[in-house]
Amino acid sequence: MADRTPLAAGNWKMNGTAAALDQVKALADAQGSAASDILLCPPATLLQRMAQAAEGTKISVGGQDCHWNEIGAHTGDVSAAMLKDAGATAVILGHSERRADHAETDEIVRNKTKAAWEAGLMAVVCVGETLAEREAANTIAIIEGQLAGSLPEQATGHNLVVAYEPVWAIGTGKVPTTDQIGEVHDMIRSRLIERFGAGVGKSVRVLYGGSVKPSNATEIFAVENVDGALVGGASLKADDFGGIIAALDTAKG
Ligand code: PEP
Repeated sequence: MADRTPLAAGNWKMNGTAAALDQVKALADAQGSAASDILLCPPATLLQRMAQAAEGTKISVGGQDCHWNEIGAHTGDVSAAMLKDAGATAVILGHSERRADHAETDEIVRNKTKAAWEAGLMAVVCVGETLAEREAANTIAIIEGQLAGSLPEQATGHNLVVAYEPVWAIGTGKVPTTDQIGEVHDMIRSRLIERFGAGVGKSVRVLYGGSVKPSNATEIFAVENVDGALVGGASLKADDFGGIIAALDTAKG
């Protein structure tokens, strides 16, 4: 795998209060010698405390969204600079739940990604097709469109991670076949190389997300151009996420 450090990213979504920080400590203790990068994205209310709990460990922390403006009259929103100030090094952008629940368009995701980069955060930009789009054989065209619209120029292997997350696989226990995952990841790699050049295109990590568990991680990580995972439910428990990280280390080590 080129020079890409595998990445296991956990999306806690709207889960977790102070008691959940025990999981961070347990994960840090168990994964002290992990070869993969580890990122946990808790709700904004836990970010600073999680960053403190993770200090000096393998675990980095990130946000789940940010506004495209740095400051201003945007009630309830959080800026990229605020995430950074709370200890984040990264932010998930364009997750399908935000695209669906908050009507986020590719243009909004692109502007948020620019804001994340201006604040010095790595953007984990999510793309993925719905079940209807897959059944209509539109998967590749949909994801090509999302990539073209959601990614700004100035991408690098350090500031950008792309997460392929089929909407129908998120939280459902359904997982695409490894051929289906491979087809999309190969296409994403090709588009990144075409758009940003071979140096950058080969260095951006492309994660798979959607019902990844310790029991299916090995099979998924064996797929070329899968550089890790964006994990929802299974990132909430240190044991489960640890099992996924161990599988990633083994597959890509
Ligand atoms: C996600 O929400 O990014 C995700 C992949 O969720 P899950 O692992 O629970 O399917």
